[in-house]
Amino acid sequence: MIVIIGNGISGVTAARYVRKNSNEPITIISSESKYFFSRTALMYIYMGHMTFEHTQPYEPQFWEKNKIELLQAKVETINTKEKLLTLENGNNISYSKLVLATGAKPNKFGWKGQDAKGVRGMYSKQDLDYIEKYTKNAKRAVIVGGGLIGIELAEMLLTRNIEVHFLVRETLFWNGVLPDPEAKLIMSHLEKHHGLHMYYSEELDEILTDKNDRAIGVLTKNSKEKIDCQFVGLTAGVSPNIDFIKPSGIETNRGILVNRLLETSAPDVYAIGDCAEFREPLPGRRPLEQVWYTGKFMGECVGKTITGTPTEYNPGHWFNSAKFFEIEYQTYGWVRSKKEEGHDNFVYQHATEEILLHFVFEKDTRKFIGVNNFGLRLRHQIFNNWLLNEVTIDEVLTNLKSANFDPEFYKKYEDEIIKQFNQQFGTSLKVAKAKWWKKLTT
Ligand SMILES: Cc1cc2nc3c(=O)[nH]c(=O)nc-3n(C[C@H](O)[C@H](O)[C@H](O)COP(=O)(O)OP(=O)(O)OC[C@H]3O[C@@H](n4cnc5c(N)ncnc54)[C@H](O)[C@@H]3O)c2cc1C
Repeated sequence: MIVIIGNGISGVTAARYVRKNSNEPITIISSESKYFFSRTALMYIYMGHMTFEHTQPYEPQFWEKNKIELLQAKVETINTKEKLLTLENGNNISYSKLVLATGAKPNKFGWKGQDAKGVRGMYSKQDLDYIEKYTKNAKRAVIVGGGLIGIELAEMLLTRNIEVHFLVRETLFWNGVLPDPEAKLIMSHLEKHHGLHMYYSEELDEILTDKNDRAIGVLTKNSKEKIDCQFVGLTAGVSPNIDFIKPSGIETNRGILVNRLLETSAPDVYAIGDCAEFREPLPGRRPLEQVWYTGKFMGECVGKTITGTPTEYNPGHWFNSAKFFEIEYQTYGWVRSKKEEGHDNFVYQHATEEILLHFVFEKDTRKFIGVNNFGLRLRHQIFNNWLLNEVTIDEVLTNLKSANFDPEFYKKYEDEIIKQFNQQFGTSLKVAKAKWWKKLTT
């Protein structure tokens, strides 16, 4: 029997690909929920746009039809010699092949009061239920850690008219990832949100509690300010959920160490998704890739590998997308927070609208390296194709119209973008008429 621990996007995709190629029994074990749901949609439940059932991509019959057994239980130990799992309820389950898809958990850094009532990260369905309970009558909340999950939590709380005080360690928002112009754009966008109070270059010192161990405020580290609040959200990043795996002897570092075939150090044991760490990261990529599509792709690879078609993880060029309140963000290729040696940068920023494009290219060869895009919608397929074919920045800008995903009647900005580029780099590029985008990707 193939056993998968974790019913998130990685584990479920692995199960689907096993079933495509084999009739071997499959069991997915998860302590969080019986059915797979979209973690990225958790915020919309809190905001009242969806119910929990709406976040489940498959009907309950899907699992029966595909002969995938679902078990809601917690795995406590893994015995890789006997190929045996022990559950919290004492039951044992044996496996022929084991896939670890155990996801991640919110970071805690040993802050005083971090386990008090009314303090919580935002990762699981249980976290969401907890946040729902502890913010019911809250007037003010503090969020610790400025990243994408922190932004989501701020947006959620503001919809309930809870005043949000947001502590960000960096001087500029998400500046470990975003270059300065992008970080500043987000910061000015955040300023527009009534009830949101940003604290930059600030960290949590301790969480203050009452005699019932309930959070009543925080103390900040640098300004030693006391902020009264009824809820504290911990969103200072996530780390692989692997504590229960460590005693098994399966090699770990920050995550479970895997090779390109997603094999761990133990025979017939694989790791995928947020919990996996590549021993040798792919060129230009990080050892831990903790986003939705990378988990899905790892699941697909491992599903094929364990059913007889060894498939290395090779996801192509990096891309990602997110939303910072109303601003949409896409990134294709690499735009590092600090300019790299031998690279040139071109930043287009609209004078009044929240639109910013940041292109990076090689100085000598003019090879296009990556783009950060805020406020427009650019086609993934075209940018992926441009990166694969190592086209120049000139080609990218000339054909930018074809890569624009926005409908015909949307205002277009390509002429202005290319004009600024020509002025800055002394070129005389002209915007080409939009080609049908499929022509550019075949
Ligand atoms: C609030 C939020 C918003 C996000 N938004 C985005 C986004 O917009 N775009 C994007 O690309 N990514 C986003 N992400 C990240 C993305 O959701 C994750 O990368 C992805 O869901 C990870 O999937 P996974 O299958 O690896 O793990 P998970 O989805 O974490 O699934 C792991 C499962 O394993 C279970 N498990 C762990 N240990 C055990 C055990 N011992 N026994 C039984 N079960 C166990 C867990 O309970 C969990 O259900 C977001 C994440 C969060 C938290």
